[in-house]
Amino acid sequence: MTDAAAPRLVAWGMPLGPLLANAYLIGDESTREAVVVDPGQDPGPFVARLRDEGWRVRGLVCTHAHFDHIGGAARLKHVTGAPVFMHADDQDQYDHLNLQAQWLGMPAPPRTEVDANPKEGDTLTLGGVAMHVLHTPGHTQGSVALYIPAEGLLIGGDTLFRDSIGRTDLPGGDAKQILKSIRTKLLVLPEETRVICGHGPETTIGREKELNPFLRD
Ligand SMILES: [Zn+2]
Ligand SMILES: [Zn+2]
Repeated sequence: MTDAAAPRLVAWGMPLGPLLANAYLIGDESTREAVVVDPGQDPGPFVARLRDEGWRVRGLVCTHAHFDHIGGAARLKHVTGAPVFMHADDQDQYDHLNLQAQWLGMPAPPRTEVDANPKEGDTLTLGGVAMHVLHTPGHTQGSVALYIPAEGLLIGGDTLFRDSIGRTDLPGGDAKQILKSIRTKLLVLPEETRVICGHGPETTIGREKELNPFLRD
């Protein structure tokens, strides 16, 4: 049996910049329209592939305002004309992008205006497929994840990693809060859900429930 009626999106990613933050594209092959999640620090290689494959980017969603994830937003917005989405609770982080870079001894990336503030319960759609915004504070106050039930896919930013969780020792971090976000927003998703992490390899909700040492009771 084929399910030609079921909408299918294309998804691919690549690690960008010295901190290897995963940038991700979700695209509708029939229209070549796409959403980019986390434009990285230096989106050059990502832009090259976007052009090669002819994607028209309709939105730049930033899971949070750490510069390794959002630093490339200004450049990618300039190249694609797409609006930047970021949760309002990370505006303060974004306003201090130069300080973030300074801590790591790196040059400050260019800034741009944030165009829209997605919040818990909001839905973005691409090719008729719903992408749900989950607010998952803890790593930063404005951290969000994008859940795409039709694809069994979660793009989780720096909240949940394979065998680890996001650090909470930077400004805006909260160790109790990140655990609460993971338990109430992420671990409740179907176990087979693929999790694209902000850094490193992907995982699944079921695997982290079973094996993640930070999530033991
Ligand atoms: Zn990161
Ligand atoms: Zn981060």
